[in-house]
Amino acid sequence: MDYISTNNQASPVSFREAVIKGLAEDGGLYMPTIIKNLEKNFVDEIGKLSYAEIGLKIANCFIEDEIEATDLSNIVEGTLNFELPVVEISDTVSTLELFHGPTLAFKDVGARFMARCLGHFAKNNDKETTVLVATSGDTGSAVAHGFYGVEGIRVVILYPKGKISEFQENQMTRLGKNITALEVNGNFDDCQKLVKSAFSEKTLTENILLTSANSINIARLVPQIFYYFIGFSQLNQSDPIVSVPSGNYGNLTAGLIAKRMGLPVRKFVASSNRNDIVPNFLQTGEFKPQPSIATISNAMDVGNPSNFARMMQLYNGSKSDMSNDVLGFSFTDSDTRNTIYEVREKYGYILDPHGAVGYLGLKKAQEKDPALGIFLETAHPAKFREVVEPVLEEKIKLPQGYQVDTGVKLSIPMENQMSQLEEILLQ
Ligand SMILES: *Cc1c(COP(=O)(O)O)cnc(C)c1O
Repeated sequence: MDYISTNNQASPVSFREAVIKGLAEDGGLYMPTIIKNLEKNFVDEIGKLSYAEIGLKIANCFIEDEIEATDLSNIVEGTLNFELPVVEISDTVSTLELFHGPTLAFKDVGARFMARCLGHFAKNNDKETTVLVATSGDTGSAVAHGFYGVEGIRVVILYPKGKISEFQENQMTRLGKNITALEVNGNFDDCQKLVKSAFSEKTLTENILLTSANSINIARLVPQIFYYFIGFSQLNQSDPIVSVPSGNYGNLTAGLIAKRMGLPVRKFVASSNRNDIVPNFLQTGEFKPQPSIATISNAMDVGNPSNFARMMQLYNGSKSDMSNDVLGFSFTDSDTRNTIYEVREKYGYILDPHGAVGYLGLKKAQEKDPALGIFLETAHPAKFREVVEPVLEEKIKLPQGYQVDTGVKLSIPMENQMSQLEEILLQ
C-alpha cells in the first residue's frame, strides 16, 4: 500500500516508511492512497468474530504483505488484549469504553500497535531505535507502557515539570528498562520544541536512529479504526449516531475511515470543549486555528488540530460533503460538570470529563434525530479524579485489576536546554 502526504509534495512511501518517518518531508500527514471497501458479508456477520479477527481484517487493508501474516496477527493480538465493551446507559444511549488498557485511556490502543509495528521493523537493524516524544500527559504514559520491554527500541519521553497529574507522572516514570522519562524545567511547548530540534540536530541524527511516536503517526491511526468495528459488532442495531470527544481529531478521522470502509454509521458528531475549531468550521466553512484554551477535558485542548488535514483529504476539501457525515458541537466546562453530575444521578454511570463532552454531543444530535447513539469513553474517570470527585462528592475507585505503577520515580530532571538533551541521548 502506498501512502501519500496530505500536502501532496512528497513522494509516496510504503507503510513501513510512513511509520518510521511519522511526518512526511513536506510537513503533511500520511494517508493511504486507497481505502478499501470491506465485503458486505464481513459487516453483516461481524457479531460472530473475535476482536483479533476484526482487527486483522482491517490491518490487512492498510499493511497488505508488508508484514507477514503470522507476525501481523501477533501484533494485532498483542494490541487488543483488553476489553472494549459497549455499555448501555439508557434506551437510546450506549458508550464504547476504550479505557480498559494499561494507562486507562484510549491512546493505549494506538500506542501498543505502533510499538509492535516499530519493534517488528527494527528487528533487522543492528542499531537501537530511539523513540522521542513530548507529552502533556496521556500520550507519554500510553507510549511508555506500549513500548515497555519492546526489543531494539529505547523510548525517551519529555514532560513538563509540575504540569502533569501525579497519576500520569507515575505511569511514565516508574517503568525503567527501555523507558527514560525526562522532567523538563519548562512547559509542554518547550518539550515539543526540544523534540523538534533534536530531529534537525546533525550530531544526533548521524549517530542514532531517531523516530517519533506522536499522534499523527499512521500506525496510531490504523488501530483506532479497529474499535469502531469492534463496537459495532456488539450492537444489535445498525446505523447509530457516533459521537467522538475530540482534540487533535485522530479518533474521529479513524471513524470516518471506518465509515468509508463500510461501517454503517448514520452520523458522526465532532464533540469538542471550548477549543471549537472544527465545530466552527462545520458551521462557517472557515478553518481558523486558535491558541489552545485550558479546560477540564485537557487532553482535548488543541487549538490547531493536525488531523483536520486528513479529514479534508477524505472529503476532497468539500465542507458540504463533510457535513453530510459529521455534525459538530462544542461545550463549556460547566456543561461538562453538570453532565457528569446528572448522568450519575439519573443512570448511575460515572463519566470522565472527555466522555462527558461526547455524551453532550450525542444528546444534542439526538434532539433532531432520535436514533440510537454511541459515544466514545476515552478515559477512565479515575484518571481525572481531580475534576470528577469534587463534582460527585465521592471517591472514584480504580478499575478492578488495575496495576498501579509502583517502584521509585526514575525521571531525570533537566533544564530546557538542547545541549542537555543531546548529552542524554548520546549516552
Ligand atoms: C487524546 C485524548 C482525546 C482526544 O483524541 P483525539 O484523537 O486527539 O481527538 C480525548 N480524550 C482523551 C482522554 C484523550 O487522551
